[in-house]
Amino acid sequence: MTERMRTWVESATDPDGDFPIENLPFGVFEREESDAPRIGVAIGDRVLDVREAIVHGMLPDVSGEVGRTLEATNLNAFAGLGRSGSGMVRTALQRLFGVDEGMLRDSGEQDRILIPACEVELGLPFSIGDYTDFYASKHHATNVGRMFRPDGDPLLPNWKHLPVGYHGRASSIVESGRPIRRPNGQTVGPDGPPPKHGPVRLLDYELEVGFFLGRRSELGTPIPIEQALQHVFGLVLVNDWSARDVQKWEYQPLGPFNAKNFATTISPWVVTLEALQPFTEPGPPRDADDPENLPYLSSDADVTIDLKLEVAIRSAEMRARDLPASRVSIGNYRDMYWTIAQMVAHHTSTGCDMRSGDLMASGTVSGPEEESRGCLLERTWRGQNPVPLADGTERKFLQDDDEVIIRGWCSKGDLRIGFGSCAGLVTPALG
Ligand code: CA
Repeated sequence: MTERMRTWVESATDPDGDFPIENLPFGVFEREESDAPRIGVAIGDRVLDVREAIVHGMLPDVSGEVGRTLEATNLNAFAGLGRSGSGMVRTALQRLFGVDEGMLRDSGEQDRILIPACEVELGLPFSIGDYTDFYASKHHATNVGRMFRPDGDPLLPNWKHLPVGYHGRASSIVESGRPIRRPNGQTVGPDGPPPKHGPVRLLDYELEVGFFLGRRSELGTPIPIEQALQHVFGLVLVNDWSARDVQKWEYQPLGPFNAKNFATTISPWVVTLEALQPFTEPGPPRDADDPENLPYLSSDADVTIDLKLEVAIRSAEMRARDLPASRVSIGNYRDMYWTIAQMVAHHTSTGCDMRSGDLMASGTVSGPEEESRGCLLERTWRGQNPVPLADGTERKFLQDDDEVIIRGWCSKGDLRIGFGSCAGLVTPALG
């Protein structure tokens, strides 16, 4: 067990906190609406204004080139430097927050540079260029296959040979806390066409893990699987809001479109791969009868991450009665079949280029247990087994004024790092 780092930031020593000195996730915040967005780092219940820290000479080990990227209004340029940039800044920050370092602790400027988190608004961490959503959980793909194609093999013939994905919509990705308006869509009833257009009825969440690309790759040049993680900056939680009634009618032959494009919520703090390193594990394991990966998807050094995930729902009634959100799902990212490195290698195997700020998401994270199914479609088995909420009601799918809250955290011994939350409240459709 590696020894814990010690810090003078008291709130960062809370054993149940998300942001100890070992985490230091990067994000973008505004203090006043009139201010330009700035890059921040979370520690305990505070946000470090990175630019102010640099201006006051508090990160002397950060080179000028790296420091200039941290003066931007998003993380694109900084993440584009690759892991050497994030590693350099991380080391400098851990020194600044270290228990024996007084430069910021004893400074009269501390309150201006290390701001209470409750005084800032968090925004999108990147200007997101492209967004790709995968389908990397065997449990999720099997469950959905069993529901939609009860007579055949639930997994299609390609599924265990490549990480299936589709190109999603970047413009409708929003930060945690933004309300999500129930979309209108085209659907058919149980008797089939003709379709109707109106508020979707089967609104769902999908619990996913997203990862932001950092170092770019050139068009025409695949990223080999061994180098894939050098191009990944860090991870966020993702809710891929989904309209199941639209999806069922529209998805053949080209896949999801309007069922998915109205909103995707992400958690605002990007947890770096450096912070997640202690929680990586070899794998994931394969069953004996699974096919061998093709060489471009195969690496002995590949890893998965022991990352616990939960989804909770809070209705308007529960908020009014001050009841806590009801947990409806609890799972772990290590149950995924395809790894981050495999998704990057496959995505770029054609020569498709990656740019800093591109987002990829894993697809719904489902495990083998009923309670580890990562969306209501699976959790309630298409509405047959509704989940109970603390206000005495139950849910088959989401209702207006429901808030969906996703959380994620890694823990090992007394080290715990968290992702904060990825939350969104459903508001009524336009009439
Ligand atoms: Ca999805």
